Amino acid sequence: MPVKRRNSHLLRHTEVPARVTESFILSGYRFPNYSFLECLVSAFQPTNETGNFWTHFLAVFVFAFNFLELFWWDWTPSVSHPFFYPFWNYFIGVFGLLMVSSMAHLFNSMSLLIREICFFIDYGTISAYTVGSSLAYFYYIHPKPAFTNGNASDTWMLKDDTYEHSVVMQYPLQDAKDALLKFSFFETFYIPSACLVALICTMACCNTRQRWRRYRYVIRTLVFILPFTVASTPIFYRLYVGPVNGTLASFFLRHCFWLVVSAVFNISKIPERFSPGKFDIWGHSHQWFHFCTFMSILDELHMIKAEIHGLPTIRESTLNLQPALPTLWSTYGVMFALQCCIAGIIFCFGMRVVMDNKKGTEKKKMS
Ligand SMILES: [Zn+2]
Repeated sequence: MPVKRRNSHLLRHTEVPARVTESFILSGYRFPNYSFLECLVSAFQPTNETGNFWTHFLAVFVFAFNFLELFWWDWTPSVSHPFFYPFWNYFIGVFGLLMVSSMAHLFNSMSLLIREICFFIDYGTISAYTVGSSLAYFYYIHPKPAFTNGNASDTWMLKDDTYEHSVVMQYPLQDAKDALLKFSFFETFYIPSACLVALICTMACCNTRQRWRRYRYVIRTLVFILPFTVASTPIFYRLYVGPVNGTLASFFLRHCFWLVVSAVFNISKIPERFSPGKFDIWGHSHQWFHFCTFMSILDELHMIKAEIHGLPTIRESTLNLQPALPTLWSTYGVMFALQCCIAGIIFCFGMRVVMDNKKGTEKKKMS
């Protein structure tokens, strides 16, 4: 259907290609051939993407402030110390997620191809974020303190701007062997599993833009339950076996609460479902989804910070099974390799869209 370009005029759902429309959003669509500049300007105009953009763009600054606040604590090692490599990888994961999401919502009306690629990258950054979380959990919320039975003391100590770990302990040999087995299993498979699941999720979500469109919101939401479950293993273990400090359970429950609410908004399409057209610009479910996912990230950040803060005191009565000090390879290296794989997946899906578009154009020419 040919659509005439009308500047500063937003379109109804019947005037844009079907794949651009969102359920129960009837108006406020931008023309799907905006220039880069027009997209930038549209951030300050009331379209059905404006709220989606700002809810994640402003969140970047709130997150960065809360993240950097940890380095103002008196006792922390220097910002570049290996102890903080996982924390910075967590930052990269969250920053990428929020920034790419906001940019995808801003620039997706440049063309149908760019729109598809924008959201492929969006799914990729969500997956990368789950691995960033896993790295932080692995090093700061490690289940090792739960392997208790012995009589030991285990502390992180700050000495001359270095963060050292010291362990003094006594424990029964059998307990040590059992704990070592659990620990080895966890240490070997946790991060690789998180990476594998992240790649599977990226592929599944990208697929929902080309097939299974009818159930796309359900699939995209459910597909991220898997990485959440895998990434949260250390926390489940800590909550089940202990030791748990006062904040771990409460922050984690709040983190889960916001995730559940965000999933409800994303699947149910409330409130626009009950009044199609009324929430086209402000207050529709995707904006609430963005808000709730950001709140879940904030609580996750507070949980990680509280664990880091508690490290010198929490690790009592534990075995000498401390995860090795983070290295560049075990943190940035993992993240970089993952990003390369995700880029490969996005490239494949992007090529598929290009080929489909080519075939569509050829068919039109022939008919
Ligand atoms: Zn979004």
